[in-house]
Amino acid sequence: MGNFLSIVQLIEIMVLISYLNPFSSEGEEIVREKGSIEGIFEVNPELLQLVRDSKSQNISDDSYIPKNYADLALKRVEWYLRRKNDKKYNHNDYAFLINPKIAKFDVISIYTMAQAIGIKFNPKSREGRLLVESQGKLVEDRLEKLVPIERKEVVNNLLNQMITQDNIKWTSMSQLLGSKKINLTDMILDQGDVVLEKEDFLIRFEDKIEGRLPEKMYDLLIGEKIKEMIISRMIMQKTENYIHKVHEMAPKIEAHPTLLEIGEQISEKIKELSYFPGSGGSGGFGGDIKATQLQHEAFPPCIQKTIEGVGSGNRNDAIVLLLTSFLSYARLYPSVFRNEGTSKISDIDPDLQITINEIIPLIFEAANNCNPPLFDDDPQEKLNVIAKLGFGVNKDPELKHEGESKWYTPMSCDKIKIHLSSLCKPDATCKKIGNPLSYYNRKRWELRNSGDKTPSKSSESDSDTD
Ligand code: SF4
Repeated sequence: MGNFLSIVQLIEIMVLISYLNPFSSEGEEIVREKGSIEGIFEVNPELLQLVRDSKSQNISDDSYIPKNYADLALKRVEWYLRRKNDKKYNHNDYAFLINPKIAKFDVISIYTMAQAIGIKFNPKSREGRLLVESQGKLVEDRLEKLVPIERKEVVNNLLNQMITQDNIKWTSMSQLLGSKKINLTDMILDQGDVVLEKEDFLIRFEDKIEGRLPEKMYDLLIGEKIKEMIISRMIMQKTENYIHKVHEMAPKIEAHPTLLEIGEQISEKIKELSYFPGSGGSGGFGGDIKATQLQHEAFPPCIQKTIEGVGSGNRNDAIVLLLTSFLSYARLYPSVFRNEGTSKISDIDPDLQITINEIIPLIFEAANNCNPPLFDDDPQEKLNVIAKLGFGVNKDPELKHEGESKWYTPMSCDKIKIHLSSLCKPDATCKKIGNPLSYYNRKRWELRNSGDKTPSKSSESDSDTD
């Protein structure tokens, strides 16, 4: 490295390390120097100047300029939400986030956010996940903006810091694999080792590659892109681990009021910008896809039949797989198939009150209508219902378990026709759709446009369905 980079460049690389990985020793040093949380809301002239001087930064309005550490933390949240959801997103409103010179402010802001979230929320809350996801995205964007020589240098430095052994065993990535931040298929493995370096790749595979240049194969299969992906995922994992650590310690310490205040502001910002389409945020980017009361008359025939009760042959799949996913998505996130990204129930129903008081009672009632009643014979299926909502195999849905399993989306009509054929009694609307949830959305639209504004038999009783 010394052959190619000057001392100044080396110092710049060190700055870049903390700018990309706030949990590096360089980042920790910045936090130690700052010392305390005091002054986090005070106007900071140095930050103001750095933001204004950032290349392409929009300075036409003061609202674009973070004035202190707390503002910077909220701007990070805003940047991520608008980047993800807002068609009018303009990178120049947030160009300062891609300015390495803000590193020391940025590091303090992410620690402040992680502490505020760890103290106030569950690490798997939407606040926690937003911070982790946004950090990963920021790392990707920041790497992309570096000049090639710096980029390569900093990537190697970061990897060397985060992966200390010479041969990286895939098992050492178990946390990333377990949290699905990375897949084994993303990497090239040889005898249990993750192959990342070109020299290593050539030693292992040069003799085996025919008809192509081994160097080209390396660039194609691995190259910088895999290294950078691993870096961004590892930094996401470090962010998550830090939030977990704070959360575990939180009951033993008295939370600083400033952190509680910032946690509250982050939560408000997420609500305001509808982090998750359909989260019921005021305005935001969710459009017409908000969680709304269930409209029973828009349920497709297969769902109507399931609610009335199913015979012993199909009971389990009808209730646990079909109805649980259908009702939860119909009530909370009917536009799931139109939107990207993974989702959790707490994104839309943060305290799980809708899930517990509306959705689960409807599912349990339908289970009771089965012949014979499903849970009488098979109480274990209650746990499976909870699991299909994303809360693992547990008796009740609880935030601390969210993410232990997947929130299942409703199965397609084709699958229903194969596995639950007796429930499929198509009507005219069924000809235009491929999934019961699409039927529901279409039918609601048809009912709205036909002027049928009659309140559904459910809408008045949804809040106290039993
Ligand atoms: S076609 Fe689809 S929506 Fe219609 S009844 Fe059959 S499974 Fe249900």
